[in-house]
Amino acid sequence: MAAFERKKTRRVLIGNVAIGMDEPIRIQSMTNTKTADVKATVEQILALEKAGCELIRSTVNTKEAAAAFSEIKKEIHIPLIADIHFDYRLAIKAIENGADKIRINPGNIGDRKRVQEVVSAAKERQVAIRVGVNLGSLEKELRETKGATPEALVESALKNAGMIEDMGYDNLVISIKASDIPTAVKAHELLSEKTDHPLHVGITEAGTALYGSIKSAIGLTQILTRGIGDTIRVSLSADPVLEVRAARQILRTLGLRKEGVEVVSCPTCGRTDIDLIALAEEVTRRTEDIALPIKVACMGCVVNGPGEAKDADLAICGGKGEGLLLKKGEVVRKVKEEELVEALLTEINILQNEQTLF
Ligand code: SF4
Repeated sequence: MAAFERKKTRRVLIGNVAIGMDEPIRIQSMTNTKTADVKATVEQILALEKAGCELIRSTVNTKEAAAAFSEIKKEIHIPLIADIHFDYRLAIKAIENGADKIRINPGNIGDRKRVQEVVSAAKERQVAIRVGVNLGSLEKELRETKGATPEALVESALKNAGMIEDMGYDNLVISIKASDIPTAVKAHELLSEKTDHPLHVGITEAGTALYGSIKSAIGLTQILTRGIGDTIRVSLSADPVLEVRAARQILRTLGLRKEGVEVVSCPTCGRTDIDLIALAEEVTRRTEDIALPIKVACMGCVVNGPGEAKDADLAICGGKGEGLLLKKGEVVRKVKEEELVEALLTEINILQNEQTLF
């Protein structure tokens, strides 16, 4: 498990999912459908749930989007968060339509009276508020005095959270976002020292699937290994299902979550006599939504493969036109190359059924 201690934050309930304190670090994503298109939004959320998403956020940019919240909620199984920009009335409408949390940047909601109205609506229904600030939307005054710095970001977040606390509501989550990793890491360190509200963490606008996942992994690793973060989002210009898979992989690699099949595979070399790359790709694809916490190794040869696959729950090691199937390092049987993937998946299924029984 993780070799670092998580900072204790307050426990906050979002719908039926708790975050903070000793709760697992939760995986969040955001839909990219038109929220008012209930059918498309529900379909996407169900696919995200299957991939392991635990909290979902949808933009509420129109009255129709706010109204759609009550319909969407009937069809999904995870808390639905409303993302609000500028219009305080939409925040109130989203709360009235069942939002489990709202994300606002009080700085762009307008005057204090409007923020107060949003806070009163949230308080009435005990809906958590995420105060989200990012470098791009820093208050003018802060930008002029402190520049686009981690200190300015933290000051802005604390000032806005403080304003809501002064209004008598502390059911809060905070997020600060920067796309530059050193700035983001420093800002999270500073913020975490100054608050015990749960923090939603991520590297904003990270990029496209591959490069954005790498950038997010580098940034999030630095933040999470400092014990900071209660929910995460990997922000990609890609299908949000990939965000969830990347988030799950990051958390599992750091020992912060166990769920999911970890597929390790060798890079192939001159000894490889089977199409290992295609095989590893297929195993990865067909196991990526399975929550069973096991390690599966796909190795290209029987010379180094069994040794390297020793600590895997299941492994396949390629030969010529065939391969070995191994369980906990022990050879189970020889399998024809074209049947290797199915043989492995059958074993994974057996493990899944065993887990359900016990
Ligand atoms: S496991 Fe075998 S095929 Fe794969 S890289 Fe090592 S030696 Fe080469």
